[in-house]
Amino acid sequence: MKPPFGLGQTRDSSDLAFTDPLTGLGNDRRFYDKVDRLISDRAEDPAPFTVGILDLDGFKPINDLFGRKAGDDILVQVAMRLRASMDGHSAVTRIGADEFAFLYPMVFSEDAAAEKAKMLIEILSAPYDVGERTARLSASVGCSLFSSGDETTEVLVNKAETALYHAKRSGRGRVVVYTREMEEAAKRVTRIEQALRRAVSAGEVEPHFQPIVDLKDRRTIGFETLARWTDRDLGFVSPAVFIPIAEERGIIGPLSQLVLRKATEAARNWPSDLFLSFNLSPSQLVDQNTGLHILAILDRTGFDPRRLEIEITETGLMTDPASAEKIVDDLRRCGIRVSLDDFGTGQSSLGRLREFHFDKLKIDRAFVSSILDDRPSEHIIRAILAMCEGLGMEVVAEGIEEEAQADRLVEFGCGGGQGYFFGKPVDADATLGYLRDTFRGALRAKAI
Ligand code: C2E
Ligand code: CA
Ligand code: CA
Repeated sequence: MKPPFGLGQTRDSSDLAFTDPLTGLGNDRRFYDKVDRLISDRAEDPAPFTVGILDLDGFKPINDLFGRKAGDDILVQVAMRLRASMDGHSAVTRIGADEFAFLYPMVFSEDAAAEKAKMLIEILSAPYDVGERTARLSASVGCSLFSSGDETTEVLVNKAETALYHAKRSGRGRVVVYTREMEEAAKRVTRIEQALRRAVSAGEVEPHFQPIVDLKDRRTIGFETLARWTDRDLGFVSPAVFIPIAEERGIIGPLSQLVLRKATEAARNWPSDLFLSFNLSPSQLVDQNTGLHILAILDRTGFDPRRLEIEITETGLMTDPASAEKIVDDLRRCGIRVSLDDFGTGQSSLGRLREFHFDKLKIDRAFVSSILDDRPSEHIIRAILAMCEGLGMEVVAEGIEEEAQADRLVEFGCGGGQGYFFGKPVDADATLGYLRDTFRGALRAKAI
């Protein structure tokens, strides 16, 4: 198929530099140039305008399935459709393999921008001819509005990219317009990221420890390490907030090493039959250095690997199962035990329990919290317990807040428990105090 308009001989070389050779649309330089110009035109009268970035959903599989040549043909058809949908003021350019940027100088509001972008998605959703066959595509769009004279092209494009990221995250074929709230949220994330980087280098993230007990006799058998961080300016920040940011911004490795070092330093003085459990994030199971880092820390702090358990989630196994398996195998060979965390939520697959060997499974709090008044939860817990028995795995029920829940779990044959009812996560000093008390309690019981 021929491009919608060829590279005419009358065009000079500077035009070439602004043109995408495959589709004949302008390229990213043309786009930046157009937006730069519009911004300077609007210097006197900063009327809003809209820029957008459109990304084809699932283009790569189409390329793989139909071949490169067919992929190119589809891109040309996409370009033709987009170009045909532009009015006299507007422009569309191709800025990446399957990414297009458009400029709507006369679209002044968020609603109108979303409307326009939805129309583009609609136009692209009709089938494409690929030789004898047809293919279908969808697209996601992120838009941003120029709203003040001091915004640069780069800022506008970044905002549209952020909106596109949100659109992609929420599914296929979506439009998201950048908003103030997104800006506030993005700023807050950046503030937390910067503060966290500083805190990690200054060694200011602390391990807290929550007891894990043998449900039958309520004896403490180990502790889960949970990271805690209180920033000078931001105050207390929950791990549910800072762990995902650390993962996304590449800080999880150093953060995790800091917490593990401090945790093992504290725990090496505890009675030697207590285990320490430690959470690993999904992104750490993709990084082949994770195992080495863990072992180096244990070596330095003199903590026996056989006392360490790592907790991983199924999400962590999905991204790159081969990589995760290698890390897990290396750690297990050194005596470290492996637990499957948050079982029963998210992407649970029983197939995984066949492929991977886990020493322990942790039943998610969601089931435990409804065990007393919800039949399905009761059945699910019973089924998990039967399965773990068959597979030779230990079980810990998480999030036990009431004695009645613990009693019911014992009745069902659940071995381990953890939750506020037995103890909240506390720092190393308080944990040592807790251990002294329990130890004394045990002595007194013996004396009787
Ligand atoms: P998780 O691994 O599932 O940890 C259990 C969470 O449940 C902890 O929340 C704990 O404080 C809370 N919890 C324990 N018992 C109860 C209870 O009886 N009731 C209720 N409502 N909650 C209970 P926390 O400390 O806020 O941690 C949240 C998540 O952050 C953790 O979930 C874990 O995924 C992650 N996280 C925490 N520390 C680390 C870390 O050092 N590394 C990594 N990679 N992730 C961590
Ligand atoms: Ca955990
Ligand atoms: Ca958990």
